[in-house]
Amino acid sequence: MIPFLSLKDVTALHGAEINEAVTRVVNGGWYLQGEENKRFEENYANFIGAKHCIGCANGLDALIWIFRAYIELGVMQPGDEVIVPANTYIATILSITENGLKPLLVEPKLNTLEIDDDQIEAAITPKTKAICIVHLYGRNAYTEKIGALCKKYGLKLIEDNAQAHGCKAPVLSSDGSNIQEFKVTGSIGDAAGHSFYPGKNLGALGDGGAVTTSDDALAEAVRTLANYGSQKKYVFKYTGRNSRLDEIQAAVLDVKLKYLAEDNAHRKQVANYYYDHISNPLITLPDRLPDEQNAYHLFPVLVGNGKRDALHDYLEQNGVGTVIHYPIAPHKQECYKEWNGMSLPITEYIAEHELSLPISPTILGKEIYMIVNILNNFV
Ligand SMILES: *Cc1c(COP(=O)(O)O)cnc(C)c1O
Repeated sequence: MIPFLSLKDVTALHGAEINEAVTRVVNGGWYLQGEENKRFEENYANFIGAKHCIGCANGLDALIWIFRAYIELGVMQPGDEVIVPANTYIATILSITENGLKPLLVEPKLNTLEIDDDQIEAAITPKTKAICIVHLYGRNAYTEKIGALCKKYGLKLIEDNAQAHGCKAPVLSSDGSNIQEFKVTGSIGDAAGHSFYPGKNLGALGDGGAVTTSDDALAEAVRTLANYGSQKKYVFKYTGRNSRLDEIQAAVLDVKLKYLAEDNAHRKQVANYYYDHISNPLITLPDRLPDEQNAYHLFPVLVGNGKRDALHDYLEQNGVGTVIHYPIAPHKQECYKEWNGMSLPITEYIAEHELSLPISPTILGKEIYMIVNILNNFV
């Protein structure tokens, strides 16, 4: 059996150091808001290239706190609109609607699976306050066109970086010359939400998340909101919530952060093997990005001729686990009944044709070789 993802193996890869870190916290007797959080936040902020990192309970909360903080700071108000790709994990959309903001769903491009920057401008109205891009599957979603639209219309740029720890994007250098430099995703926009769900590239042993930003006021509001709305013990500025990253998770994440580049390099080798060797005409791979622009969180393919589910079953019968990301688009979900009638054909096409192949820091060369052989023999 080749499972879609073996978390047990992923943890074992750095198991000794992880166990040491957990034991240190257990025996230290300090479990929340301590030195482990402080150290991880500092290291993660440096890694991303942002001034601030605020740990919180999970990736959904991270995104919720960004929008809520903008509301508390008077930058946005309920009823305002946020542009967002229609083909994202539900959490991105929930973070917008949770705050009484309105998502404007924009189609992705079929060859990149990322938001179609040619369709954004037509969606902008006087009520639009932000563009939330999602580096879905680990692929860079930022383009200069998106940056230019944010400037032109005075929009905040928010990144959902839940799937793209370690991805980079080419951006114009800050002196405005046309020389490109690379920025780590999560440092391109005004703020970014990160998830440390166990299966993510940088995964905890439970839930975890973080907001990164270089905006001092936003960072302070996010930190306050995630701590009951309190800056001073028993004094409450906002009606916040309890949304903290615990010390054990922070300690584990700090260990895994050291190995993220190495782990991602393994993912890249796997992805490059898939790109070079999958030759079944029923299977379409998304455009191949330069290596640094893809953290290869997932390896999505599109399966033609209505054979996606048949391929999933065929692989399973041959001992290979695959997962669909995601079988039902957000606008077709029961929780968003009001959008069920919308037509978003590219998004719907992806939901009907996408299948994610195994990719991880621990999958073996011989396993990838087997998977490709099985795939190429499928008719
Ligand atoms: C995982 C994920 C989230 C949410 O993260 P949690 O930690 O599970 O709350 C948000 N957006 C995207 C795109 C994700 O993949």
